[in-house]
Order: sequence, then C-alpha cells, then structure tokens
Amino acid sequence: MGRLLVVLLLAGSIAAADRKTKNVILVTADGLRRQEIFTGIDPMLMREKAAGMDKAPGEALRRKLWAETPEQRRERLLPFLWRRLAPRGVVLGNVEKGSAVTVTNRFRKSYPGYSEILTCRAQDDRIRNNDAIQNPHPTVLEYARLSWNLERTGVALFASWDVFRVIGENQPGTVFINAGYQSAAGTPRLEELSRLQLDALSPWNEVRHDYVTAEMAFEHLRKYKPRVLYLSLGETDDWAHDKRYDRTLQAAQYFDRTLERLWQTLQSMDEYRDRTTLLISADHGRGSQLSDWFDHGAQINGAEHIWMAALGPDTPPQGEATNTATVHQRDISATLLDLLGLDWRAFCEDQGKPVALIAP
Ligand SMILES: [Zn+2]
Repeated sequence: MGRLLVVLLLAGSIAAADRKTKNVILVTADGLRRQEIFTGIDPMLMREKAAGMDKAPGEALRRKLWAETPEQRRERLLPFLWRRLAPRGVVLGNVEKGSAVTVTNRFRKSYPGYSEILTCRAQDDRIRNNDAIQNPHPTVLEYARLSWNLERTGVALFASWDVFRVIGENQPGTVFINAGYQSAAGTPRLEELSRLQLDALSPWNEVRHDYVTAEMAFEHLRKYKPRVLYLSLGETDDWAHDKRYDRTLQAAQYFDRTLERLWQTLQSMDEYRDRTTLLISADHGRGSQLSDWFDHGAQINGAEHIWMAALGPDTPPQGEATNTATVHQRDISATLLDLLGLDWRAFCEDQGKPVALIAP
C-alpha cells in the first residue's frame, strides 16, 4: 500500500468518525421553483387570472403573502425554512446572490431529476422522461441499506407520485417503498391513511395528496425508526401544471409546515435528536415567464436551476449561501453518504461529490 493511500484512508476514517450524523432525512418538493424559495409570492403571477389568482382565495393569499422585499415575502411563504432552518443551517441556489444549484441531466424532468438525486449521476438516455421503467442504476437508498445490512424498513421512501415504485430501487424489494395510491399496514394510523387516500382523492391518477404521504412517513418514522428516510412531496408540481398558482403556493406552505413538524418530531426522539441531518431539494425548476412558469423540460429556460437546503449537527450555520461555486443535483447522494460516514466514492465513482457547505 502506497504512503499516499494510507494517508488518504486515515484522513477518510477520521473525517467519518468525526461526523455526528447517524441518520439522514431527505425531503423533496417536486418542481418547487427557486423563485418562490428565494423571493416568495411572484408579483408577475399573483393577480393573474390565467394562474387562478383572480378569485377570492387568490386575494386572501396575496394579502397574507405579499410584502415589499423578497426577504420578507419568502419568510411569509416559508417561515420554517427562513426563520428556523436557514439561521442554523444553509440554503443554496439563489442565482441573484451568486449561488447556483443546477441539474446535470439535460431533460429537466422528474424521473431524470430524481434518478440524478438518488444515483449520484445524470443518467444516460434510458431515463429521459417519466416512463415507469425500473431504475437501471442502484440507488443511494439501496447502497445504504446493503452497506449496513439493515432491515428493509430501515431505509424507507414515501412518495406522492407512483413512479417512485421503480425510481427508488434497481433491485425490486431492496428498500421499503410506498408511492402513489398504495396502502400501508402495521399500525391503526397507517390503515386509516390507506383508506383515507381513496376517500379523499387528488385530481390526478398518479399522485395522491401530500398529506397522506407525509402522515404515512411520520408514522413509519415513529414505528420503525429508519436510518434513511426519503419523503417525496408532489403537489407543488401538479398544481403548477394545472396553472393553479394559488394551490401551488398552498402546497409550498404545506411543504414548509411539514418540514417544521418533521424537525420537531426528530428532535423529540432519542434515536434522532442532534444526530440527524435534514437534506432538502427539488427534481427540476420551471420557467420564469407567464408563458412557461407552469412548465419544465429541456426547452424551458431556467428549468435547470434548483435549490438545496440542509440542517443538521455537521452543517455549520451559514444562512443563505452567497458567491459559492456551482453545486449540482448529482451531489446530493454523495453528501448524504459522506454525512453518514459511508464510502461515497465507491458509489459515486467520478460523478457527484459532497457539497462542502453541507458536509465540510
Ligand atoms: Zn417533477
């Protein structure tokens, strides 16, 4: 063994031993734009009839969310993210302040984005749209479960969108997945939610309400105490596609309230308190014009821009990141593995790398 390799191995094991993070909770909000994350309610859309903002709910939302500065507006829309998480963690992706987070894949669609998040690389052209084909590459969820030889419930994915049944793993059955209109069992609450999702249908066949997804994830967290939990919310994307900016904003508010409850729950449990990192991001951006704010894809300008946030015992308090090197979507699973002290290089090869602002 060469001396350099010995030094590198020692450095790696010391860094891993220093980590306080023992669990990671990953949360994504589908297609939630960086515009809303960093500047709150959009003045271009907030009175727009074509965006569903001309009727009474729109007026009430404007009164509630409007303020003079972008910093005030984003705090009104996402109070947990900006008042609680940011001061103790970090939020990346405000292009106006010199911090960019971009997707590496050229498709700017959901499955390519989620696969980039979960496999540490932009996929080749096999994953170019949202067709429900089994993920051709092992995911970070599978890698974590197999590295630690955990029970299947020890690495869990709850998603509103049903295609996650094939996005989440390369070998079916490796990790615990509950996605779309799918029932869950094991506790009375899980059985209640399994019935409720069919009594309170969303407008979409492939996406159930985020409420059901989040409540199931909370219940799984309390019962099985997974080391890695991925909560994937979907309504921020579907309401935007339906050109309902009012509901898109309300889905973003639900996302923020869910983060707050999640963090409170984690800090109330011995298994998670002060040893859990929350990683948050999105699968793609969207357009910034009246003609394309609801859409995304290879042809939509700006849809490559996403954002990222983290809160946990290994992430220094930095607030809003400014003037940083560009970070990529494929870096998320490298960051997750590095925080957990797992060998991210073996999984990521020469693709994604840990984000230094999150896992220094
Ligand atoms: Zn999406």
